[in-house]
Amino acid sequence: MQTCANCKSQSPDTADTCRKCGRDLRVESLTSRALVRMQVASPKASQKEKLGIEDEQAFWKLVQAAFAQKRKTLVNNWKARCDPERLRAALKDLGIDLRARAETLSLAEFAALFKALRSGSRAPT
Ligand SMILES: [Zn+2]
Repeated sequence: MQTCANCKSQSPDTADTCRKCGRDLRVESLTSRALVRMQVASPKASQKEKLGIEDEQAFWKLVQAAFAQKRKTLVNNWKARCDPERLRAALKDLGIDLRARAETLSLAEFAALFKALRSGSRAPT
């Protein structure tokens, strides 16, 4: 069984939409699966070191925000969280398509973006 994130009612695993409210359950499971996959890959200290993430909580918040609206691009989902110009520049630097969606990015790419956006928020020296 799977639980609807909207109304919390149960639907069989084979159901595409929630029986009660009609929410698209496939999108739901796809997003959570992608997040779990990335989180499983990350929590070891050595891995954290490799990714160079200091503020892990802020990092996961940003990653989660990237998945907030499945049909939107990364730039659109992060619009409220960071300067779109800075984000576009960071994506360009990393060679990531400006129209990329969250599910196409690797954890390493998220980490690189996170770092670029963080360092960009400081005044240039
Ligand atoms: Zn529902």
